[in-house]
Amino acid sequence: MTLPVSSMISVEEARDRILAFFSRLQPERKPALDALGQVLCEDVVAPFDIPPLDNTAMDGYAVRAKDTAGTSESNPRELRVVADLAAGYILETAVGPGEAVRIMTGAPMPPGADAVVPFEETDEPMRAVGEAPTKGASVRVFKAANTGANIRFRAEDVQQGSVVIPAGRMVRASEVGVLASLGLESVRVYRRPVVAILSTGDEITEPGQPLLPGRIYDANAHSVAGLVRTYGGIPKLLGIAKDTVEDLTAKIRAGLDADMLVTSAGVSRGDFDVVKDVLAREGAIDFWTVRMRPGKPLAFGAFNAPDRRKVPHLGLPGNPVSSMVSFELFGRPAIFTMLGRSDWERPILRAITRDRVINPDGRRFYARCIVSKGDDGRLYADLTGPQGSGILTSMSAANALTVIPENQAAAEPGDEIDVMLLDG
Ligand code: AMP
Ligand code: MG
Repeated sequence: MTLPVSSMISVEEARDRILAFFSRLQPERKPALDALGQVLCEDVVAPFDIPPLDNTAMDGYAVRAKDTAGTSESNPRELRVVADLAAGYILETAVGPGEAVRIMTGAPMPPGADAVVPFEETDEPMRAVGEAPTKGASVRVFKAANTGANIRFRAEDVQQGSVVIPAGRMVRASEVGVLASLGLESVRVYRRPVVAILSTGDEITEPGQPLLPGRIYDANAHSVAGLVRTYGGIPKLLGIAKDTVEDLTAKIRAGLDADMLVTSAGVSRGDFDVVKDVLAREGAIDFWTVRMRPGKPLAFGAFNAPDRRKVPHLGLPGNPVSSMVSFELFGRPAIFTMLGRSDWERPILRAITRDRVINPDGRRFYARCIVSKGDDGRLYADLTGPQGSGILTSMSAANALTVIPENQAAAEPGDEIDVMLLDG
């Protein structure tokens, strides 16, 4: 029996109701690299200036700019090389009039010098390999340098005491780099949520075990665990519960130390009531029909944990594609919210469908598709083949989902449609 559309809730309503249960988790301190994808819970303040000293941006000669005034290729100025300075070393003696220090990129400017003349503007490149001017030799300068030329000034990147990365920013590779450049080994971020995952159903078998006739392997726990990890959570696999009150109750209880519990299957109309009974008895669970395809049946509620916490529970449909798409739409925003991220809304792009997409039953259709750029530079969407909600390889081939609105019965080849990229 098909439910009337009026008794279904929209994807947005389901998501709003779900997200109302979640907030960001406690802070933790950890090495910056381990915090990739986590959100800073405090400002990162610079303990010192970057660069800490004026230094040269080029390999060349540190000089007094005045000494180079009026020089050209036909009118070079000869300067005496008084030192050779590599990055990482400080020269204390000042550069006097008519003098130059041969200097390597990153080396602090010696006192007295106020410009750097790059090698290319001196006679150094004209000399044979190994014949560069050393201390006591002289070098010819062919071009006038302005005061400050080729110098990276102290604090031009970061000033001591300034906020370098604000609280609320997610740690990405560039943040790991900035933190390291400040000499900071660890950061304070909101901790990652632990998501307990339980498959249910007498027919479900753990991969690696022999498959008895009529049974199938557990895809859902593993695909959902993959999504949890991709989105920054820590999956905790609880295994497979038989459709009995005892087994289901015991396995659910084993997951109540998590921040969120995800089950798959047992929420559709034809299911053994035992699943719904246990869910309702161990907590407060709603069963919803969400106006989407795939993934119509969904359970959501909270379990009472022994420590009196309420553990939010997302009950995914059993069909492997439905369970992944449902987790994508509802589980991902929940994980992001616990991580302190508010950017869970995926950008929607416009693409031209090359296939006919039929959407006859008034639901929002998330069909699996491949979005790619055509020869004309525009985005195109190709369906991944049959769209049955049990066909998990259709998900594996896809890099996007179509978003065909509830009130659109079909999209024809050549029509522009909305697509949502799935990119981690
Ligand atoms: P149900 O929601 O229990 O009616 O399940 C719907 C369909 O999904 C059935 O064909 C189940 O065999 C299948 N299914 C349920 N759980 C899983 C799972 N963990 N992995 C793969 N398929 C599953
Ligand atoms: Mg079942």
